[in-house]
Amino acid sequence: MTDFAGRRIRITGGASGIGAAAAEAFLRIGARVAIVDIGAAALEARRAALEPLGEVVAIRADVSSEQGTDGYVAQTLHAFGGIDVFVNNAGVEGRVAPIAEQSADDFDRVIAVNLRGCFLGLRAVLPIMSAQGSGSIINTSSAAGLDGAPGLAPYSASKHGVVALTKSAALESAAAGVRVNSIHPSPVDTPMIESIMRQRDPQGSGSARQAFLARIPLGRFAEPDDIAQLIVFLGSDESAFVTGAQYRVDGGMGAA
Ligand code: NAD
Repeated sequence: MTDFAGRRIRITGGASGIGAAAAEAFLRIGARVAIVDIGAAALEARRAALEPLGEVVAIRADVSSEQGTDGYVAQTLHAFGGIDVFVNNAGVEGRVAPIAEQSADDFDRVIAVNLRGCFLGLRAVLPIMSAQGSGSIINTSSAAGLDGAPGLAPYSASKHGVVALTKSAALESAAAGVRVNSIHPSPVDTPMIESIMRQRDPQGSGSARQAFLARIPLGRFAEPDDIAQLIVFLGSDESAFVTGAQYRVDGGMGAA
């Protein structure tokens, strides 16, 4: 098994959900972790909760901004001197509504965080990893990045775009020894899916959860750690021959 002691991990959207679970999983196997997030209070609370597990640095930044991205990359380099694994994970769900009722502003906001943010992260990190001659990048897409998602078209479009960035980045950087893959979760029990279900079922009748569950062969939502374990695998040397790939982690949903 890969020895993660001293390996330098950076995770955007690290204050909550999947990013926080990935931070915990990497810390538990000895890595050094920087969590990046836009929410200052949640970020500090997460840093304090993770601190007993190992070396964790918290960096406040907006991944959709060039300045924010350059800032968090510079701060990670200052703290760790390099980046071995980059989890390009921050995201927003946007408004749940049919395309005819989506505003251009809502569309732009989702694309700015989920797609532009992913692009800016890649643009900043790829040269650093290429100069190192090693590195693994995991882009968090979604099952909605491979399939359509009625009511979530801007989100689905942004996550399909993440696949294009993943494949292009993998091809551009393979010769330099840098790997880039995307992951595609089905519903995961995090604040994001809670928001989607609240928008679909404002009365809280449970109908939105039931509709999701009916489509998941394993019969449950993912826990954030289910996703974190795949992220650790793709960040490890055990996945040394994997690049440009799309990994579903969806309880069998994509097999239907
Ligand atoms: P979450 O809401 O728990 O966490 C997302 C984090 O991203 C939050 O801490 C938020 O503050 C941060 N963030 C949002 N905008 C940001 C910005 N501009 N700059 C920096 N940080 C920002 O959600 P999650 O479920 O953990 O989502 C993580 C990723 O997983 C997202 O990319 C999401 O699209 C994807 N995903 C989630 C699910 C799910 O069901 N929860 C399914 C498939 C994919």
